Amino acid sequence: MTAILAGAMPDRPKLLASACLLGRPVRHNGSAKTLSDHLIERWCRENRVFAACPELMAGLPTPRPAAEIAAGSEGNDVLHARAKVVESNGRDVTLDYVAGAQEALRMALHHGCRLALLTDGSPSCGSSYVYDGTFSGHRHPGAGVTAALLRAHCIRVFAPSDLDELSVLMDRPGAPAPASGSRRENYR
Ligand code: SF4
Repeated sequence: MTAILAGAMPDRPKLLASACLLGRPVRHNGSAKTLSDHLIERWCRENRVFAACPELMAGLPTPRPAAEIAAGSEGNDVLHARAKVVESNGRDVTLDYVAGAQEALRMALHHGCRLALLTDGSPSCGSSYVYDGTFSGHRHPGAGVTAALLRAHCIRVFAPSDLDELSVLMDRPGAPAPASGSRRENYR
């Protein structure tokens, strides 16, 4: 997926954002999860936002079956081959999700994004929680595969609920501050 806007300002932080948060109908059921906020609209106007859907970047179609990280695990477990991502029909899509995460990381690095705003709960984009692999609505703290890979490369990942905190970093020149050691920060 290409950047939504080109020619970003060189002295302001740039943001990788989940395409569905930006209104793209790319979720597994063909819907968007639009996050309407004046901050995001302004950052887009300033050419500082780059849209990515890791699952589409891996070649998965829309619509597609829902997927979850199996057995109560999370994205880091998938990246270390300790867990799988499975669709609701039982199909193993682990390699697709890892490939999508790698593509999203490549895009972030290419555009100099050190911040990311990702859709929470997704097996790819989840930043503070993911679902447990039973497709029963149970969730637990943890990150999706893409969020985990971005964090492993020092890109700070925020959920929509953290927009105020993200705005502090987006609207100040210079590098984002390193993550602190709190439990919540560990999921960023
Ligand atoms: S992979 Fe991320 S961007 Fe794509 S639909 Fe899922 S949550 Fe949205």
